[in-house]
Amino acid sequence: MLHIAPRLNRIKPSPSSMAGQRARELRATGRDILSLTAGEPDFETPAHVKEAAIRAMSAGQTRYTDVGGTPALKAAIAGKFLGENQLAYASNEIIVGTGAKQVIFNALMCTVAAGDEVIVPAPYWVSYPDIALLAGGVPVCVDCPAAMGFKLQPEDLERAITGRTRWLMLNSPNNPSGATYTRAELQALAEVLRRHPHVWILTDDIYEHLIYGDAGFATMAQVAPDLKDRTLTVNGVSKAYAMTGWRIGYGAGPSALIKAMVKLQSQSTSGPNSIAQAAAVAALTGPQDSIATNRREYAQRRDTMVAALNAIEGIHCAVPDGAFYAFASCSALFGLRTQQGVAIETSDDWVMHLLDAQNLAALQGSAYGVPTHFRLSFAAGTDELLEGCRRIARARDELTGQAINQEQL
Ligand code: PLP
Repeated sequence: MLHIAPRLNRIKPSPSSMAGQRARELRATGRDILSLTAGEPDFETPAHVKEAAIRAMSAGQTRYTDVGGTPALKAAIAGKFLGENQLAYASNEIIVGTGAKQVIFNALMCTVAAGDEVIVPAPYWVSYPDIALLAGGVPVCVDCPAAMGFKLQPEDLERAITGRTRWLMLNSPNNPSGATYTRAELQALAEVLRRHPHVWILTDDIYEHLIYGDAGFATMAQVAPDLKDRTLTVNGVSKAYAMTGWRIGYGAGPSALIKAMVKLQSQSTSGPNSIAQAAAVAALTGPQDSIATNRREYAQRRDTMVAALNAIEGIHCAVPDGAFYAFASCSALFGLRTQQGVAIETSDDWVMHLLDAQNLAALQGSAYGVPTHFRLSFAAGTDELLEGCRRIARARDELTGQAINQEQL
């Protein structure tokens, strides 16, 4: 009999991967499924990056590399941090992993012991609580209400910190809300963190280059240099350069932490893919124009989608400052019933109704710690986005009865 280790029972499969799989399965049965669940750019990896990979293969760069990443990629990452974030990191303060996700996984596995607490502001990226749980830790989710722009407030951070707190997870721009912290907001959180020197900060900056308008990007180690010696700054090429499948992410922080993470990596993956690392060097050091081109396209899609969503009675969507997700409220619909008499009571019910009644795949906000909302990706063509919104309007029109919160309609 197969024996599954208890640690696996602590976690659930990634809801976004599951939703993608469900959409593919339903499509295979002949249903006209439109999926707005993608957590990845729909653009192509830039040609010069692909060519660098081909050159690396032809030149025989097909063997194991240094566990923590090639010297060339670490130099490119150091250059990126210095040039874009005014952060100086030496080679032994940088690790390359198989995606930012593995870097985050390494960090928590190396530092979180049974019962240690990890503060996760909600809405959160689905993997933070599960990685904390897998490490034996306790995710401490802190609500960041829509009224506060989905951002962690200093007094809520102060309240959440205990003697067992190991990490604060920060993600700006945020998946799923797009919330983007200003320098002043990070400063205010830094003030709290200064009072608690045992708390480390993991900043997940993977959407750094996907900020619209004038918000500007800031990261904790840059804004509060005195906290740099307890901050792990995580980033990667997946979202900025449309390279999700290449699986290259990186982290920079104190050398003792990086050394531990490299040790763990040496006994797990042995290091990231050699060819993808060569491609990542080209991405970080080559022409950067695709970033601005893609960003302009995302900004237009964002405006189109948010306007179309807000035109639907009962759906409310704030304009996200960054990333490529619309995180809309559906709580005004709670209490209404489908044609089959099923009551819509949570975002899970609403998302299920969208799929059943209109063949639209979206993600329930409960996966992100906010059951009043649902997430739609705008990493898709404008036609698809508008069709998605038409389906949402039709799904909403099918509902009848009395909403619980009449005033929200
Ligand atoms: N962090 C956040 C907030 C994400 O949304 C994602 C992917 O969806 C990742 C990290 C993972 O990035 P990578 O592809 O580099 O593992």
